[in-house]
Amino acid sequence: MALAASNLAQETAALLQALGVPRERTTGGSLAVHTPITGEVIAQVHGTSAAEADAKIGQAQDAFIAWRHVPPPRRGELVRLIGEELRAAKGDLGRLVSLETGKILSEGRGEVQEMIDICDFAVGQSRQLYGLAIATERRDHRMMETWHPLGVCGVISAFNFPVAVWSWNAALALVCGDPVVWKPSEKTPLTALATLAIVGRALARFGDDAPAGLCAALIGGPALGEALVDDDRVKVVSATGSTRMGRAVGPRLAKRFARAILELGGNNAAIVTRSADQDLALRAIAFAAIGTAGQRCTTLRRVFLHDSIYAPFLERLKRVYRTIAIGDPLAAGTLLGPLIDARAYETMQRALQAAREAGGTVHGGERWDGLGLPQAYYVRPALVEMPAQTGPMLQETFAPILYVTRYSDLPEAIGLQNAVGAGLSSSIFTLDLREAELFLSAAGSDCGIANVNIGPSGAEIGGAFGGEKETGGGREAGSDAWKAYMRRATNTVNYGTALPLAQGVEFTV
Ligand code: NAD
Repeated sequence: MALAASNLAQETAALLQALGVPRERTTGGSLAVHTPITGEVIAQVHGTSAAEADAKIGQAQDAFIAWRHVPPPRRGELVRLIGEELRAAKGDLGRLVSLETGKILSEGRGEVQEMIDICDFAVGQSRQLYGLAIATERRDHRMMETWHPLGVCGVISAFNFPVAVWSWNAALALVCGDPVVWKPSEKTPLTALATLAIVGRALARFGDDAPAGLCAALIGGPALGEALVDDDRVKVVSATGSTRMGRAVGPRLAKRFARAILELGGNNAAIVTRSADQDLALRAIAFAAIGTAGQRCTTLRRVFLHDSIYAPFLERLKRVYRTIAIGDPLAAGTLLGPLIDARAYETMQRALQAAREAGGTVHGGERWDGLGLPQAYYVRPALVEMPAQTGPMLQETFAPILYVTRYSDLPEAIGLQNAVGAGLSSSIFTLDLREAELFLSAAGSDCGIANVNIGPSGAEIGGAFGGEKETGGGREAGSDAWKAYMRRATNTVNYGTALPLAQGVEFTV
């Protein structure tokens, strides 16, 4: 397949039309959208002004007043329809995700499947917004908790999962009774506009009890994210992105006592023990470290190999790194597509230079020009032998770099794994029950996600997704994550004639 920018621009226009995005939204605007596949401009999107953002937040607040009265299973029906529309649009939206982010086609489609999965999950959840009945010490009293809609939910999302992150939040927020105002990454506005067009079709089928302004998007840069963060009408903000962004957003939300769901950077590790199934570990590590061009928050960035397997396992890893299929992410067979942009490439090169200065031996990592596209940034994945855990290994670099070191005893390896700022995802490869259980125990991995014989990347809907420490502490997309989008009221009802006070306090007037 010939990769010409003009072809991709045409294909993008056709996909947007098929998905229902009005042409005037994506032509003639001031926000240029580049495809990382060729590096060239594929659309010119119109951004949202500050005044428009203010109006959309106001509309969402009005929508809240109506939507909170719609019974939750009926709200679930809207999310069911969104899931149906996503099923119908999966091929087109998945391809648009690949065009806009550069991820390989099966991952683009997989991202849409994840949206469908969370819709299914949220529909079930809409009938399970349970409170507790609580034992009370007072006679003829009943104590319980009730969950109510919280208010407008702001979603700020990153470029690497341009639409799935919105859906993790929106599907649950909508069944919980919260309108959603979304600030997608300025690098990926097209998939956001397409998603809103899909939601528009579901709303049209849903009927009159969906108020206007229930789902909106603010198209543009960080200033629009800040508008959400600082607006008192927005009661919860789910912010996904770098830890640097979280450091800016977290305190501002805290200042006005708004609720924050922070999903920030990761520096994920795997430990490969003496007893590991090495074939399985190799495959898992290849996907987790190289997949999505190292641009997942859960990408594997550090691996600790037991002394006894270090040399032979490293040899096998090097072979995988040398032979991985790099190229056009839209072509069958490609496993490694481009980085998002020039800045990502430069950041990667700086990290590799720092690794060399820290005594590391770098294999790969150089620019790959097999397609002859000077404005696109394809790289060979980098495998870096480190003498110790030091230098750039302690930070997330959003690129396919895997640092390798050796260890001799498991508690030491777990200590190294935990000795970084981020706390998102982690894995151990072992067939030894004691090692696996230690890793999962209170003295084991300190991450929000800890896996055995699976890489750290590739979470599924149903489990709570998120991490500790500098990853921000937020949880989404499963378990009891729905509670973050609701407010809890504790209710005590006295159905007797006396007025006993708690703790036996006497107060007779
Ligand atoms: P980024 O931090 O540059 O941007 C993320 C979003 O935040 C964008 O929409 C951006 O416009 C907005 N933003 C930036 N500064 C802001 C501010 N001061 N106020 C309000 N909004 C602001 O991140 P990116 O480069 O798009 O994505 C990569 C990063 O995201 C990586 O660190 C990755 O680990 C992280 N990430 C985390 C998760 C997770 O669930 N933990 C998922 C995906 C990506």
